[in-house]
Amino acid sequence: MANVRMKWIVCCTFLLSILVTSSSAQTDYNVGIGIADITGPAAEVNMMGYANPAQTSRGIHLRQFSRAFIFEDNNKNRVVFINIDACMFSAGVKLEIIRQLKVNYGGKYTERNVCISGTHTHSGPAGFHQYLLFDITSMGFVRESFDALVEGIIKSIDRAESKIRPANLFVNSGELLESNINRSPSAYLFNPAEERAKYKYDTDKEMTVLRIVDAEGKPFGMISWFAVHCTSMNNTNRLISSDNKGLAELMFEAEMNGEHVLPGKGDFVAAFAQANEGDVSPNTQGPHCLDTGLRCDFNKSTCNGRNEMCVAFGPGKDMFDSTRIIATYQFQKAKELFDSAFTKLTGPVDFRHTYTNMTDQTLPDGKRTCKGAMGYSFAAGTTDGPGAFNFAQSTTSPSPVWNFVSHLLKNPSKAQIECHHPKPILLDTGEMDFPYAWEPAVVDTQILRIGQMFLIAVPAEFTTMSGRRTRDAVVESLKSAGLQVEPIPIIAGLSNDYADYVTTFEEYQEQRYEGGSTIYGPHTLEAYINVFRNLSKALVSGSPVAPGPNPPDLVSKQVSFLPPVILDRAPLGKSYAQVTQQPKAAYMPGDRVEVKFVGANPRNNLRLEETFLKVDYMVNSTAWETVYTDAHWQTQFHWESAAFFESVVTIYWDIPSYQKPGMYRVSYFCDHKELGGGIQSAQGTSSTFKVTNSQEKMAMLNKKWEKKKTILERINKALKGKESKSAQLTNLVKPK
Ligand code: ZN
Repeated sequence: MANVRMKWIVCCTFLLSILVTSSSAQTDYNVGIGIADITGPAAEVNMMGYANPAQTSRGIHLRQFSRAFIFEDNNKNRVVFINIDACMFSAGVKLEIIRQLKVNYGGKYTERNVCISGTHTHSGPAGFHQYLLFDITSMGFVRESFDALVEGIIKSIDRAESKIRPANLFVNSGELLESNINRSPSAYLFNPAEERAKYKYDTDKEMTVLRIVDAEGKPFGMISWFAVHCTSMNNTNRLISSDNKGLAELMFEAEMNGEHVLPGKGDFVAAFAQANEGDVSPNTQGPHCLDTGLRCDFNKSTCNGRNEMCVAFGPGKDMFDSTRIIATYQFQKAKELFDSAFTKLTGPVDFRHTYTNMTDQTLPDGKRTCKGAMGYSFAAGTTDGPGAFNFAQSTTSPSPVWNFVSHLLKNPSKAQIECHHPKPILLDTGEMDFPYAWEPAVVDTQILRIGQMFLIAVPAEFTTMSGRRTRDAVVESLKSAGLQVEPIPIIAGLSNDYADYVTTFEEYQEQRYEGGSTIYGPHTLEAYINVFRNLSKALVSGSPVAPGPNPPDLVSKQVSFLPPVILDRAPLGKSYAQVTQQPKAAYMPGDRVEVKFVGANPRNNLRLEETFLKVDYMVNSTAWETVYTDAHWQTQFHWESAAFFESVVTIYWDIPSYQKPGMYRVSYFCDHKELGGGIQSAQGTSSTFKVTNSQEKMAMLNKKWEKKKTILERINKALKGKESKSAQLTNLVKPK
């Protein structure tokens, strides 16, 4: 009898499983998604982006992550798109990653079908480049930064690979306003009037969103592309941060995974990727003079002739607030587009890649690119972070003093000067190779196809109009080669390698920062467009493209002047991770908790996939639950060095309005270096403190008020008593 019942159960389960399977949608793709930690050294390392040597890391606000997406069609063709919370990508890191992927996966993942794109945060540790110019302000190559990227990116791909499942893809796009402005509007105006008339704005306002769902229709991933610099955090910030796009990623993931899931640990992964952001700033209040508050000079971005006084500010009251606002806008728009993404991607997954020597391109009309060189305006910086020396943007006439200094390094050849005209050459990087190449000559050029979507992976920062022209050219080439569907072209900015900026030929004539940093001369954009046209045609016709010349692998030659951590010391009578300032006994939502510890240099252990701090909630008398780490927006991990190899760690926790009332504690994880070089660990935990909720807060305020009221009443009574006594006395002495 039992046997018969068992058979029935097995049979029913089988039928049910058939029903469930058949009720799930047919899928067009297989998709695997993985996330991993890539946070670099949180002390003493220069931040990549502003080229300000004084801006070195001193803690963590938001951790950096790598988010990998593997797409496979039904014929097993694969591409990988990886979004990293870093300023850009670097050829040296890509070469190392591809080398490891070839060992681990055979020929499945190569330089040709893997695209790694940087979000362009300016608050991540530098030193991961193989070309000298980009590592100068970080005192050369920083092995810890390089290794953190390699290790984390590989881990994110491994995780994606282990989670490949049947999926469908949907795309949507819409306009996001109030979130970006053009920071070189005068250069934009150099573009032909009839071309400008085709567009409503001088930056792209369109956000494109990819919604990834499994066979049951349950979403498990999202990628959005929107053009805006990750420079909401300015060049005074010393905390590692993934800036506006990184925070938007955390917001989206918290929304989908639930607030209780710690950052980087959830199943749903959301990437906010970069596009043609070359001339696009998040500092929407625009540039103003620090001294007078007035508008800066429109063409040169100077105040009374001084470049460093002209700075653009975001929409918020400070850089943290601005980051939060620009992140929130991107998150909300992406969520809205995600929820209403119904255009299904169908068709093949494919790719074309070639290495292009950008210094020797000849266009069909005979125009040529040049060997790399930086103009004077490059040193002026931008209104997001002005340069330190008195350079101004829109400089087309060289200063004799700087000419002398720069020509001490390398005197540009006559041909080089003519090739770059009207750019005055400050650094003749393309003709400098001591101790090794200063800037790339050979770069990755690549297009990934996922159904109707074409990701144009550019190894540089394309300005708004440069991106528009590139997209139009790709669409035109795809169609003329016979593509039957309406393509969706997307610029995937700062991908695979870094070769500075790309302006249009017309914008180049004004020589603002972006023009001064367009390193292959006035025809750089046309040369790129030419390459992407060829890749597009090959994609449609199914023909192969030549691999092109190999880029050099310079990682083994790197020079490094950043001193290592020598030693840590705890103050006399104190131990590592000991609390030196305890929290108060109680806090209310909206308050900031501050706890200080005896610290050590965080470079001793990057604590990848882990944390330097945690905030625990007391579940009961024996159990604690970790509710915040150093990757959360609500926490800050500050590190300061003190005399005699000592250091101080301060942990802040901003208690949000919705925080569950109860008992909490803060911990710090310390790794300190001993005299012999060994690294030891220590952990310190604060005293327990109370967080009240808003009702309790009201009750407490009421209690305080009641107390005050009673005191007032007593005083009143006493005063009245005195009055009546004085009246009695008056009566006594009054003559009758
Ligand atoms: Zn930039």
